[in-house]
Amino acid sequence: MCRFCGGSPAADVTFRAHRGLVLFMGFKKMAGPMCMTCGLAVHRALTTHTLCVGWWSPFSLFVFAPLTLVRNLLAVREVKKLPAPGPGTLGPRYDPGVPIHRRPRAYVALVPALWVLFMIVTGLVGGA
Ligand SMILES: [Zn+2]
Repeated sequence: MCRFCGGSPAADVTFRAHRGLVLFMGFKKMAGPMCMTCGLAVHRALTTHTLCVGWWSPFSLFVFAPLTLVRNLLAVREVKKLPAPGPGTLGPRYDPGVPIHRRPRAYVALVPALWVLFMIVTGLVGGA
């Protein structure tokens, strides 16, 4: 049974968000059985959050942010296997909203990605 809306079937999954700022790192996680609708909503919210604020410290950039994104992708695969949930008994269901690629905040991730690319390219050029 989904922990948010009470609908079933639900999968036992954990979604994570990571926030990496220069001197501050934060981890957030939401675990528990979730139906397809709520699981997708949590996945999109936490993944978009990570794409936006997950990159701004060295450890975050190379370790925690990619790890968080990969783990969320594995978790959402479990949720997407479920059929649409039956009526919920606990209350309103989360609204999955628009896909991640249609959320402007997700594109903040392009900044560190381009920066890393830039460092690699200048490193290669400088070393040659
Ligand atoms: Zn649910």
